[in-house]
Amino acid sequence: MSFAKALRCRECQREYPLEAEYVCDFCFGPLEVAYDYDAMREAVSHESIEAGPASIWRYADLLPCEPDNRVDIQAGFTPLIRANRLGKELGLTNLYLKNDCMNPTWSFKDRVVTVAATKAKEFGFDTLACASTGNLANSVAAHAASAGLDAFVFIPPDLEQGKITGSSIYNPTLVCVNGNYDDVNRLCSELAGKYPWAFVNVNMRPYYAEGSKTLGYEVAEQLGWRAPDHCVVPMASGSLYVKIWKGLQELAKLWLIDSVQTKMSGAQALGCSPIVTAFEAGTKNVQPVRPSTIAKSLAIGNPADGFYALGVMEETGGRAVTSTDDEIVEGMKLLARTEGIFAETAGGVVVAGLKKLVESGGIGKDEVTVAFITGAGLKTQEAVIDTLEPPLQVEPTIAAFEEALGERREADVQAASA
Ligand SMILES: *Cc1c(COP(=O)(O)O)cnc(C)c1O
Ligand SMILES: [Zn+2]
Repeated sequence: MSFAKALRCRECQREYPLEAEYVCDFCFGPLEVAYDYDAMREAVSHESIEAGPASIWRYADLLPCEPDNRVDIQAGFTPLIRANRLGKELGLTNLYLKNDCMNPTWSFKDRVVTVAATKAKEFGFDTLACASTGNLANSVAAHAASAGLDAFVFIPPDLEQGKITGSSIYNPTLVCVNGNYDDVNRLCSELAGKYPWAFVNVNMRPYYAEGSKTLGYEVAEQLGWRAPDHCVVPMASGSLYVKIWKGLQELAKLWLIDSVQTKMSGAQALGCSPIVTAFEAGTKNVQPVRPSTIAKSLAIGNPADGFYALGVMEETGGRAVTSTDDEIVEGMKLLARTEGIFAETAGGVVVAGLKKLVESGGIGKDEVTVAFITGAGLKTQEAVIDTLEPPLQVEPTIAAFEEALGERREADVQAASA
């Protein structure tokens, strides 16, 4: 049985029943799942979690779902990798990467959709829907297919081909809306009032958001039940960033880890950085922007959780950083070259941001630092394809191979000395 007991307004604290609702009738604040932590503490232990499946469902007792009818395509429990080579390059001795490329649809969105889809089934919905910057579309379409639900997926028109194919293959109704993500999201809020569908990030948002906590849980478990000193997290709406922090706080509340001193730093692309701009201005009042960046998965100009993200930043002493499109590409290539991980543009935002945090003294050299790599690079090939060396073209002889290799080496030497 789930220990969720109510939906609670994040502003006025009024409580509501656990239904498909997301705003407070009284003050229009966002609703969040509230739990009975005393009862939960009795039920969970390191052993009970470690005995669970290698997916987010090992933390079922900390999530708002009933045990029956789980939707499960094996999201979560992704590798935490010790990144010695990247750490050396950046000047960090204790760097880890949480590799969420290794999810069923190759991004962290499988965590949030697993929880939202399970709740949607519990509530008796027959249709799953979303407004997406790309990865959510893939994940909603896949989960709906696996759960036998209909899917309506709304996207902006300028997405990478990998994200379009990565949705279409599961056969949802894919709707390309003429506008940017914020227009797509507004349309979906209106549709959610008219159609009896489970929009994972609209009327199901309180449950959806809980899925991101599992990234915090996993990192702590994988570090041997301790919180890291520093997290570096990509921010679009800011929900993931806030919920990793909530996940760590909950583990401490449940006596599964010591009190949490983690600094939470957030990274955005310069072309869509409303949260960073507010941070630098010393305000929590986020001004919406019109996004223009290759990091399309993070291109939310009006971030729903920006205010709360800035609160966590202030509380923990983390910082906010941006990177240009060129720096994002460099970050993607640096990660691939040093650690063998091909991340999407959001990963480039994190690695480029990490570099700046180290250079500016925002992260100490020996801090146990976790960088969250949230999506895979084959979906955003457009970002790097023109910057990579093309393959050598040779006839099937040793002579042809050696000649081509010689020419390439010669060209490399010349390029290096130019
Ligand atoms: C959606 C997404 C994020 C962050 O999303 P939030 O809206 O901030 O929760 C980060 N990385 C990738 C790859 C994403 O698709
Ligand atoms: Zn309220």
